[in-house]
Amino acid sequence: KAKENGRSQYRLYSHRMHEEAEDKLQLEYELKNALKLNQFEVYYQPQINSKTNQVEGVEALIRWNHPKKGVLSPYVFLKLAEEMNLISDIGEWVLLTACSQLYKWQQTYGLSPNELSVSVNLSALQLQDIRLLESVCSTLDKSGLDPSSLELEITESSIILSPERIVDRLLKLTQKNIKLSLDDFGTGYSSIQHLHLFPIHTLKIDKEFIAACQQKISQDKVLIAMIQFARTLGLKVIAEGVETQEQLNFCDENQCDLIQGYFYSKPIPASEFEARFLIK
Ligand code: C2E
Ligand code: MG
Ligand code: MG
Ligand code: MG
Repeated sequence: KAKENGRSQYRLYSHRMHEEAEDKLQLEYELKNALKLNQFEVYYQPQINSKTNQVEGVEALIRWNHPKKGVLSPYVFLKLAEEMNLISDIGEWVLLTACSQLYKWQQTYGLSPNELSVSVNLSALQLQDIRLLESVCSTLDKSGLDPSSLELEITESSIILSPERIVDRLLKLTQKNIKLSLDDFGTGYSSIQHLHLFPIHTLKIDKEFIAACQQKISQDKVLIAMIQFARTLGLKVIAEGVETQEQLNFCDENQCDLIQGYFYSKPIPASEFEARFLIK
């Protein structure tokens, strides 16, 4: 009996593994075609100066409008896209879409390059790519956007792999007037002793720290210290994942420059962003 049970469990298990492998293959196939089938979309989330209530920045976040599964989050497909070597093409598409969109908004609403900027995420693999600088510059050119309106978001862990080479590459981007921000600060490998070597303009405090604050006094202190640390280095500070009025007040009192989070808005399609934040 026990043996039989074991056998049928094994069959169930292997059946499930087989299904999972098939699902992955199917998703890979669909992902490979998603770009040319126009299934990706860029959503936009505002970064707001809470003192003036002005939208000073907007983060571009990719979504996949899957024909059967609906709107898929990057967590579901970005890793696979990296494994499949599709991330450079997808990244370039996001960059062109986001920069063109911002340029159009600046033109339509008479905004100068420093009034509204766009942030685009770069994956670790894109940073490893020697064609990055060339690709970013030609994409910016195509879009018409002023380089100073573009901020590229990188993470600590993607720099730490080969600091000197990456820092050199990052410097070349900043020499073109492109800004850099460090995303998800505080998570992953801590590179505090290297941070001053990175040519970054902005530090984005991860939502984990925003969520933890006001839960425990020690967490509040950690957050305050992080903000002070950024300010000491002369960096702009963005608080990510601000969801409540209390969190907003806390960030305000402690001198965060910009707020990004559900409190103001989730990431939304371009037309909705325009209607809610640009049409006066
Ligand atoms: P991220 O760059 O740290 O982006 C912020 C994430 O936090 C977004 O998730 C956003 O929807 C979410 N978020 C913002 N405010 C709140 C809040 O108040 N509460 C909560 N719970 N979440 C909030 P999303 O859009 O699912 O993106 C996930 C990650 O995928 C991004 O994290 C980024 O690392 C990556 N990603 C997104 N788009 C791209 C892209 O075009 N290229 C690359 N390489 N990575 C991307
Ligand atoms: Mg980001
Ligand atoms: Mg982040
Ligand atoms: Mg993140």
